[in-house]
Amino acid sequence: MRRFTEKALLVATHNQGKLDEMRHLLEPFGISVTGAKDHNLPEPEETGTTFVENARLKAHAAAQATGLPALSDDSGIEIDALDGAPGVYTADWAETPDGRDFTMAMRVTHEKLEKANAPYPRKARFCCTLVLAWPDGHDEVFPGVMAGQVVWPIRGDQGHGYDPIFQPDGYDQTFGEMDRWEKNKISHRADAVRQLVKIFGDG
Ligand code: IMP
Repeated sequence: MRRFTEKALLVATHNQGKLDEMRHLLEPFGISVTGAKDHNLPEPEETGTTFVENARLKAHAAAQATGLPALSDDSGIEIDALDGAPGVYTADWAETPDGRDFTMAMRVTHEKLEKANAPYPRKARFCCTLVLAWPDGHDEVFPGVMAGQVVWPIRGDQGHGYDPIFQPDGYDQTFGEMDRWEKNKISHRADAVRQLVKIFGDG
């Protein structure tokens, strides 16, 4: 695996929440983080059918455009009783003509589970795939996961996306009820970052 020996990293996201979270996770390793907006990067279309494909698209586009190593993430929730849906389409389930509505997406998810007569616990996992791409075209892939179950009704108003209906294994609270930084320590993204930081430095 190629090592990452630089002190600055471009995180290829336009999402301020993701950028803040990555900054919080990477700064303890002495890495300073910039985002896609700092480099005026366009938002590439996510045309892949897997987390890895989408993360690769975003990381390589940013590395090619800037000449800098770029890290991207693609994430979503996979629900067993829905054959892994929404998966890479997690954000799409929230799309409306007026922008994303995650309250609606969570209700749709619950209705699909009811229709499928899904047994309890309604097992699911949040997945996050990080891709670190270099300007010469090389990349490394780091998958992260947090297993849990989908609950109803929604609980908590912390976090974002599907957090209020996801209760991670080993916890009584949903991600939506947890303190943001507590959640970030155990999340699928933190799991992927734990893999990523192993390649930091000269080794
Ligand atoms: P993308 O990675 O930007 O394509 O979006 C993935 C989607 O998955 C987000 O819009 C969220 O709805 C959802 N998602 C990913 N990670 C989390 C999380 O930690 N909590 C809640 N929802 C998440």
